[in-house]
Amino acid sequence: MSVSTDFTVAIAGAGLSGLCLAQYLQRAGVDVHVYERDPGPFVRRQGYRIILDRHGLEALRESLPRPLYRLALATGDEPGGHLRFTDSRLRNAFTITFKDEPHATRQVDRLTLRSILLSGLDGRVHYGRSAAAVERGGPHGLQLRFSDGRTTAATVVVAADGIGSALRAQLTPDAAPENTPMAGIYGRSPLRQHGESVIPDALRTSGVLALAHRPGRAFFFTSMRFGESPRDAFARLAPGSYAPTGDDYVMWGLLLKQEEVPTGVHGDLLAMRDLAARMSVGFHPLIRRLVDTAELDATVLNLFATGRRPRRWAIPNATMMGDAVHAMPPFGAHGGNTALRDAALLGHHLVEARSNGEPVEEAIARYQDEMVPYAFHAVDTAATLMRRLTGSAPAPHWILTRVLPKLHRVTVPEA
Ligand SMILES: Cc1cc2nc3c(=O)[nH]c(=O)nc-3n(C[C@H](O)[C@H](O)[C@H](O)COP(=O)(O)OP(=O)(O)OC[C@H]3O[C@@H](n4cnc5c(N)ncnc54)[C@H](O)[C@@H]3O)c2cc1C
Repeated sequence: MSVSTDFTVAIAGAGLSGLCLAQYLQRAGVDVHVYERDPGPFVRRQGYRIILDRHGLEALRESLPRPLYRLALATGDEPGGHLRFTDSRLRNAFTITFKDEPHATRQVDRLTLRSILLSGLDGRVHYGRSAAAVERGGPHGLQLRFSDGRTTAATVVVAADGIGSALRAQLTPDAAPENTPMAGIYGRSPLRQHGESVIPDALRTSGVLALAHRPGRAFFFTSMRFGESPRDAFARLAPGSYAPTGDDYVMWGLLLKQEEVPTGVHGDLLAMRDLAARMSVGFHPLIRRLVDTAELDATVLNLFATGRRPRRWAIPNATMMGDAVHAMPPFGAHGGNTALRDAALLGHHLVEARSNGEPVEEAIARYQDEMVPYAFHAVDTAATLMRRLTGSAPAPHWILTRVLPKLHRVTVPEA
């Protein structure tokens, strides 16, 4: 399809939503460029998996060329499985079971998804470009300014620059995210150690949230098993694109209070893993083993925040997607799915306006009017779930950790 450059879209941030929108627009023949602060595509490990629900999968299906969507499904884990809530000794409180239909909720490896989203965008993703401001003027009406003083002209600017968005204060004044009391240290550990899976059969297809008796402490883990090896699947469906290794792993997260995170730990891999090890004393031996065998360079510390509903959109031809506008704590697996949903929705409205000759600011306003209700419903759901599970709402925590586990058998015997 030929690309006309009289209408050009500049996206700040090559994360999930930025790349998904770029795929959508490129497929529709719209001139689109993505500007990313990182110096290259795979400089961070991004080593964890992500659960894609029906919204995330639908957005990918609408945005990606068919072979790339098939690649996401082929390399993902098997659909279905369970989410188990247990006490710290892995005694079941209750279990949620997911449907195992072909397009139902499934886990995908984040690095693999990133490589899929980058496929075919050659020359459209520009690295080492840190967005700093949106200005009116230039040949297309707007200019995106970078921290090094350079600018690029655009008809539409989209901020997809994540939770620390540099453009948010300008585009949605008064909508800075609110801090929460909670934080998470995330890691990954090899699934197979000494030739055997570290996860017992009973938990093979389960994510597990183990709640400590002490409110405000919990441990999450789940194994990521690649359906087809990325090397084979990429060779078949996206030859020439980078295929990650495809070694199965366990992704885990220790949830703790922000006040328990000593200053100076952020960015220090060893200190973060040591903190996770100290805080997981008292949990089941399987959990402690996961922390002890973690791959150091995949350790990440996140301070959880919740987005605030924008009251005003300051520039009609500029908008925002994903964590930049609706950050949420990672409870319920909505953040990335909502970001992907934004991308497909904005892409749809921009392409429709172009083909009907409608003003682009009306398309953007329609996107914002539809996005805010579903996105902030997800923010509220994630924040409520965090409060219930981490103990700031005491009654459910007590039932989950003290009452229900006593009614169930031990899931994983302790050695
Ligand atoms: C451990 C963990 C597990 C998670 N699991 C799930 C899950 O299972 N399901 C789910 O739906 N969600 C999950 N999430 C949430 C999900 O990862 C985020 O909601 C999602 O990545 C947001 O996408 P985004 O496009 O808004 O931003 P991001 O994917 O964060 O991308 C933002 C991009 O912008 C770049 N950037 C930043 N500043 C600038 C700048 N000034 N200029 C240019 N570029 C910039 C960044 O380098 C980055 O590449 C999880 C989060 C965490 C931390």
